[in-house]
Amino acid sequence: MVDSNTHKPHELARRGLLFVLSSPSGAGKSTLSRMLLDADEKIALSVSYTTRPPRPGEIDGVHYHFTDVPTFKQMAADGDFLEWAHVFGNRYGTPKAPVEEKLAAGCDVLFDIDWQGAQQLYQEAGPDVVRVFILPPSIEELERRLHTRAQDSDAVIADRMSRAKSEIGHWDGYDYVLINDDIQACFNKVRQILAAERMKRRRQKGLIGFVRDLAAT
Ligand code: 5GP
Repeated sequence: MVDSNTHKPHELARRGLLFVLSSPSGAGKSTLSRMLLDADEKIALSVSYTTRPPRPGEIDGVHYHFTDVPTFKQMAADGDFLEWAHVFGNRYGTPKAPVEEKLAAGCDVLFDIDWQGAQQLYQEAGPDVVRVFILPPSIEELERRLHTRAQDSDAVIADRMSRAKSEIGHWDGYDYVLINDDIQACFNKVRQILAAERMKRRRQKGLIGFVRDLAAT
Protein backbone atom coordinates (compact mmCIF):
# COMPACT_ATOMS: atom_id res chain seq x y z
CA MET A 1 0.00 0.00 0.00
CA VAL A 2 1.11 3.55 -0.75
CA ASP A 3 0.59 5.63 2.40
CA SER A 4 -0.18 9.37 2.58
CA ASN A 5 3.47 10.38 2.85
CA THR A 6 4.47 8.84 -0.43
CA HIS A 7 3.71 9.41 -4.10
CA LYS A 8 0.24 8.91 -5.51
CA PRO A 9 0.02 8.36 -9.25
CA HIS A 10 -2.53 11.16 -9.84
CA GLU A 11 -0.26 13.72 -8.15
CA LEU A 12 2.80 12.97 -10.18
CA ALA A 13 4.27 15.89 -12.05
CA ARG A 14 4.68 15.53 -15.81
CA ARG A 15 6.39 17.98 -18.08
CA GLY A 16 3.96 19.39 -20.64
CA LEU A 17 4.29 18.41 -24.28
CA LEU A 18 3.98 20.52 -27.42
CA PHE A 19 1.14 19.11 -29.52
CA VAL A 20 1.16 20.36 -33.12
CA LEU A 21 -1.86 20.00 -35.38
CA SER A 22 -1.19 20.96 -39.00
CA SER A 23 -3.24 20.59 -42.16
CA PRO A 24 -4.10 22.44 -45.31
CA SER A 25 -6.92 24.97 -44.64
CA GLY A 26 -10.25 23.21 -44.75
CA ALA A 27 -9.02 19.78 -43.61
CA GLY A 28 -10.65 20.26 -40.20
CA LYS A 29 -7.75 21.32 -38.02
CA SER A 30 -9.53 24.30 -36.43
CA THR A 31 -12.60 22.21 -35.57
CA LEU A 32 -10.41 19.46 -34.10
CA SER A 33 -8.45 22.02 -32.07
CA ARG A 34 -11.65 23.46 -30.65
CA MET A 35 -13.01 20.01 -29.80
CA LEU A 36 -9.77 19.09 -28.06
CA LEU A 37 -9.65 22.31 -26.03
CA ASP A 38 -13.28 21.82 -24.96
CA ALA A 39 -12.76 18.18 -24.00
CA ASP A 40 -9.41 18.35 -22.26
CA GLU A 41 -8.57 20.91 -19.59
CA LYS A 42 -4.93 19.84 -19.45
CA ILE A 43 -4.12 21.30 -22.84
CA ALA A 44 -4.14 25.00 -23.69
CA LEU A 45 -3.93 26.75 -27.05
CA SER A 46 -0.90 28.73 -28.10
CA VAL A 47 -2.38 31.93 -29.55
CA SER A 48 -0.22 33.07 -32.45
CA TYR A 49 0.59 36.55 -33.64
CA THR A 50 -0.32 37.34 -37.22
CA THR A 51 -0.09 40.30 -39.57
CA ARG A 52 -3.16 39.20 -41.53
CA PRO A 53 -6.41 41.09 -40.89
CA PRO A 54 -9.08 39.42 -38.72
CA ARG A 55 -11.82 37.43 -40.49
CA PRO A 56 -15.44 38.04 -39.46
CA GLY A 57 -16.00 36.63 -35.98
CA GLU A 58 -12.32 36.40 -35.06
CA ILE A 59 -11.43 37.99 -31.74
CA ASP A 60 -8.09 39.62 -31.00
CA GLY A 61 -6.29 37.69 -28.26
CA VAL A 62 -8.54 34.63 -28.70
CA HIS A 63 -8.02 33.39 -32.27
CA TYR A 64 -4.87 35.39 -32.90
CA HIS A 65 -3.05 38.43 -31.64
CA PHE A 66 -3.54 40.68 -34.67
CA THR A 67 -0.61 42.98 -35.19
CA ASP A 68 1.17 45.07 -37.83
CA VAL A 69 4.35 44.23 -39.73
CA PRO A 70 6.70 46.61 -37.84
CA THR A 71 5.56 45.29 -34.45
CA PHE A 72 5.91 41.71 -35.66
CA LYS A 73 9.39 42.35 -37.03
CA GLN A 74 10.45 43.93 -33.74
CA MET A 75 9.16 40.94 -31.78
CA ALA A 76 11.07 38.59 -34.08
CA ALA A 77 14.24 40.67 -33.67
CA ASP A 78 13.80 40.62 -29.88
CA GLY A 79 13.56 36.82 -29.89
CA ASP A 80 9.96 36.86 -28.65
CA PHE A 81 8.91 34.02 -30.97
CA LEU A 82 9.53 30.30 -30.55
CA GLU A 83 9.06 30.08 -34.31
CA TRP A 84 7.63 32.25 -37.06
CA ALA A 85 6.99 31.93 -40.79
CA HIS A 86 5.50 33.56 -43.86
CA VAL A 87 2.22 31.83 -44.70
CA PHE A 88 -0.09 32.98 -47.52
CA GLY A 89 1.83 36.27 -47.77
CA ASN A 90 1.44 37.14 -44.08
CA ARG A 91 3.61 36.58 -41.05
CA TYR A 92 2.57 34.17 -38.30
CA GLY A 93 4.49 33.54 -35.09
CA THR A 94 4.26 31.60 -31.84
CA PRO A 95 5.02 33.78 -28.79
CA LYS A 96 7.60 32.16 -26.54
CA ALA A 97 6.70 33.33 -23.02
CA PRO A 98 3.13 31.94 -22.72
CA VAL A 99 4.26 28.54 -24.03
CA GLU A 100 7.11 28.32 -21.56
CA GLU A 101 4.81 29.27 -18.67
CA LYS A 102 2.26 26.60 -19.59
CA LEU A 103 4.87 23.87 -20.05
CA ALA A 104 6.54 24.73 -16.75
CA ALA A 105 3.15 24.39 -15.04
CA GLY A 106 2.82 20.86 -16.47
CA CYS A 107 0.18 21.91 -18.99
CA ASP A 108 0.32 20.63 -22.58
CA VAL A 109 0.23 23.20 -25.35
CA LEU A 110 -1.68 22.91 -28.62
CA PHE A 111 -0.28 24.57 -31.76
CA ASP A 112 -2.37 25.22 -34.86
CA ILE A 113 0.60 26.04 -37.07
CA ASP A 114 1.91 25.12 -40.51
CA TRP A 115 4.68 22.70 -41.50
CA GLN A 116 7.36 25.39 -41.25
CA GLY A 117 6.34 26.06 -37.66
CA ALA A 118 6.23 22.34 -36.87
CA GLN A 119 9.75 21.96 -38.23
CA GLN A 120 11.11 24.92 -36.25
CA LEU A 121 9.41 23.81 -33.02
CA TYR A 122 10.93 20.38 -33.46
CA GLN A 123 14.37 21.95 -33.86
CA GLU A 124 13.79 23.95 -30.64
CA ALA A 125 12.14 21.37 -28.44
CA GLY A 126 12.81 17.99 -30.11
CA PRO A 127 11.30 15.10 -28.16
CA ASP A 128 8.81 17.32 -26.32
CA VAL A 129 7.09 17.96 -29.67
CA VAL A 130 4.35 15.69 -31.07
CA ARG A 131 3.44 16.49 -34.68
CA VAL A 132 0.10 15.46 -36.15
CA PHE A 133 -0.88 16.12 -39.76
CA ILE A 134 -4.53 16.06 -40.86
CA LEU A 135 -5.30 15.16 -44.47
CA PRO A 136 -8.62 15.77 -46.23
CA PRO A 137 -10.28 12.65 -47.70
CA SER A 138 -9.90 14.12 -51.21
CA ILE A 139 -9.00 17.33 -53.01
CA GLU A 140 -12.65 17.71 -54.13
CA GLU A 141 -13.84 17.50 -50.53
CA LEU A 142 -11.24 20.06 -49.45
CA GLU A 143 -12.47 22.52 -52.08
CA ARG A 144 -16.08 21.92 -51.10
CA ARG A 145 -15.25 22.65 -47.42
CA LEU A 146 -13.42 25.87 -48.28
CA HIS A 147 -16.45 27.08 -50.27
CA THR A 148 -18.86 26.09 -47.47
CA ARG A 149 -16.83 28.08 -44.99
CA ALA A 150 -17.63 31.13 -47.16
CA GLN A 151 -15.19 33.36 -45.34
CA ASP A 152 -12.81 33.87 -48.23
CA SER A 153 -13.25 35.21 -51.76
CA ASP A 154 -13.03 32.87 -54.79
CA ALA A 155 -9.54 34.18 -55.54
CA VAL A 156 -8.39 33.43 -51.98
CA ILE A 157 -9.95 29.96 -52.15
CA ALA A 158 -8.19 29.21 -55.45
CA ASP A 159 -4.94 30.36 -53.86
CA ARG A 160 -5.54 28.21 -50.75
CA MET A 161 -6.28 25.19 -52.95
CA SER A 162 -2.98 25.46 -54.75
CA ARG A 163 -1.14 26.01 -51.46
CA ALA A 164 -3.03 23.08 -49.90
CA LYS A 165 -1.51 20.79 -52.49
CA SER A 166 1.98 21.98 -51.66
CA GLU A 167 1.31 21.74 -47.88
CA ILE A 168 0.14 18.15 -48.31
CA GLY A 169 3.61 17.46 -49.72
CA HIS A 170 5.03 18.09 -46.23
CA TRP A 171 3.11 15.24 -44.58
CA ASP A 172 6.36 13.33 -44.12
CA GLY A 173 7.60 15.86 -41.55
CA TYR A 174 5.06 14.60 -39.01
CA ASP A 175 4.91 11.82 -36.42
CA TYR A 176 1.24 10.98 -37.06
CA VAL A 177 -0.92 11.38 -40.17
CA LEU A 178 -4.73 11.16 -40.01
CA ILE A 179 -7.36 11.34 -42.75
CA ASN A 180 -10.32 13.40 -41.68
CA ASP A 181 -13.24 11.73 -43.43
CA ASP A 182 -15.32 11.78 -40.25
CA ILE A 183 -14.69 14.54 -37.74
CA GLN A 184 -15.71 12.54 -34.64
CA ALA A 185 -13.63 9.49 -35.63
CA CYS A 186 -10.68 11.73 -36.41
CA PHE A 187 -11.09 13.54 -33.09
CA ASN A 188 -11.09 10.22 -31.23
CA LYS A 189 -7.79 9.36 -32.90
CA VAL A 190 -6.30 12.72 -31.95
CA ARG A 191 -7.24 12.05 -28.33
CA GLN A 192 -5.76 8.56 -28.46
CA ILE A 193 -2.47 9.97 -29.76
CA LEU A 194 -2.40 12.58 -27.00
CA ALA A 195 -3.23 9.99 -24.33
CA ALA A 196 -0.50 7.62 -25.51
CA GLU A 197 2.09 10.37 -25.79
CA ARG A 198 1.33 11.53 -22.26
CA MET A 199 2.03 8.03 -20.96
CA LYS A 200 5.48 7.76 -22.53
CA ARG A 201 7.91 6.79 -19.83
CA ARG A 202 10.33 9.64 -20.44
CA ARG A 203 7.52 12.18 -20.00
CA GLN A 204 6.61 10.79 -16.59
CA LYS A 205 9.69 11.75 -14.62
CA GLY A 206 7.60 11.86 -11.43
CA LEU A 207 7.05 8.11 -11.73
CA ILE A 208 10.59 7.47 -10.48
CA GLY A 209 9.56 8.19 -6.88
CA PHE A 210 6.26 6.33 -7.23
CA VAL A 211 7.94 3.22 -8.59
CA ARG A 212 10.60 3.40 -5.87
CA ASP A 213 7.84 3.51 -3.23
CA LEU A 214 6.04 0.60 -4.89
CA ALA A 215 9.18 -1.47 -4.97
CA ALA A 216 9.97 -0.66 -1.34
CA THR A 217 6.60 -1.83 0.01
P1 5GP B 1 -5.20 31.14 -41.21
O1 5GP B 1 -4.85 32.46 -41.83
O2 5GP B 1 -6.11 30.33 -42.11
O3 5GP B 1 -5.73 31.28 -39.81
O4 5GP B 1 -3.85 30.31 -41.07
C1 5GP B 1 -3.06 30.07 -42.19
C2 5GP B 1 -2.00 29.05 -41.83
O5 5GP B 1 -1.06 29.61 -40.91
C3 5GP B 1 -2.55 27.79 -41.16
O6 5GP B 1 -1.93 26.66 -41.76
C4 5GP B 1 -2.11 27.93 -39.73
O7 5GP B 1 -1.93 26.68 -39.11
C5 5GP B 1 -0.80 28.66 -39.90
N1 5GP B 1 -0.37 29.35 -38.66
C6 5GP B 1 -1.15 29.95 -37.74
N2 5GP B 1 -0.40 30.44 -36.75
C7 5GP B 1 0.87 30.11 -37.03
C8 5GP B 1 2.12 30.33 -36.35
O8 5GP B 1 2.21 30.91 -35.29
N3 5GP B 1 3.23 29.84 -36.96
C9 5GP B 1 3.19 29.17 -38.15
N4 5GP B 1 4.33 28.73 -38.65
N5 5GP B 1 2.04 28.95 -38.82
C10 5GP B 1 0.89 29.42 -38.26
